[in-house]
Order: sequence, then structure tokens, then C-alpha cells
Amino acid sequence: MMLNQGLEYSTAYLLLGGNLGDRVANLEKAIELLNDKIGKVIAVSSLYETAAWGKTDQPAFLNQAVALQTNLSALAVLDLALSIEQELGRVRKDKWGERLIDIDIILFGDQIINIPDRLQVPHPHMKHRKFVMEPLAEIAPQVLHPVLGETMLSICRNISDPLEVKKL
Ligand code: ADP
Ligand code: MG
Repeated sequence: MMLNQGLEYSTAYLLLGGNLGDRVANLEKAIELLNDKIGKVIAVSSLYETAAWGKTDQPAFLNQAVALQTNLSALAVLDLALSIEQELGRVRKDKWGERLIDIDIILFGDQIINIPDRLQVPHPHMKHRKFVMEPLAEIAPQVLHPVLGETMLSICRNISDPLEVKKL
């Protein structure tokens, strides 16, 4: 059998978040499933706690950034990530509503993807949100944003998001 011939690996950065149930256990289960189904997890950030964004009458979120290596396409990774959300029992209600687990693709190598209503990478809101950039800058400080040409650390330092993010 020929192994990985002609296949290119991409490093993908995902942001996990959840504000329901056993938040830490849900993040751990999600990382295990990502590692089984999508590709080798090579880095995980600390846990970060943030008040709910956009809708404040719900429990605080825990967020964590994950880096993994995959030979799948970004769309295949998205579909698997959405299936892992389902597997972990997420019920979609309203847009900013509570959820057991949310898995977003933040960066996928240096790819720029814009498929309306389906997949946008780099994640369009990352540069405005501390709860994305703080965990990401922890595990990928020198990685460049492929559109802005700026490092994660530099983007993170310049955010004026009023929502405080607490590293646990
Ligand atoms: P949000 O993550 O914005 O709170 P959802 O998790 O319900 O909302 O995602 C809604 C849709 O966003 C997904 O079905 C997916 O098709 C789309 N989407 C677009 N870009 C991305 C991305 N970079 N990562 C994850 N989902 C994305
Ligand atoms: Mg999502």
C-alpha cells in the first residue's frame, strides 16, 4: 500500500466552545472525536471563559483552540465537525442561543475560502473577538492571517472587544 502519496497535509485551527452541561467534558470529548475522525491533534490551548456573546441571559462559554493536521479538504472537515456537534448532542435553536458544543474552523492552512452560507475561512469574525484570538494566539502566536498578513499575536493585542476573557 502506498502511504499518503501525493497527499498534502494542512494545519487547521479550530475553535471549540460550549456553555451547557459539563463544559469541560464536552470539550474533551470533542477533541477526542476530532483526533479520531479528522486528523492528528497537535496542540490545544488552555480553557478560556467568556460571558455569552450577543445574548447575555445564558451561562458563560468555555472556549478552547485546537490545531490539527489533516489531509482532508476544508469542506470535509466542516461536515465532520458539524457531525461531531450532532454526536455530542447539540440542538440548534436560535442563532446566539446556548449549545453543548460549537466547532468553528478559524484557519485552514493559508487557504482563503468563501462559499456563501456554508464556509468562510479565515473565520470572518475572528479578528474582533477576544474569545477566539486569545486561545488562538496562545497556540499559534506567529501564524499569519492569510488576508491581513498579520500574526495571531498582533491581531490579538489590537482587539477592542469589551467582553472580558478569563484564562482558567
Ligand atoms: P456560529 O458558529 O456562527 O455560532 P453555527 O455553529 O450554527 O453558528 O454555524 C452555522 C453555519 O455556519 C454552519 O452550518 C456552517 O455551514 C457555517 N460556517 C461558515 N463558515 C464557517 C466556519 N469557518 N466554521 C464553521 N462553520 C462555518
Ligand atoms: Mg459554529
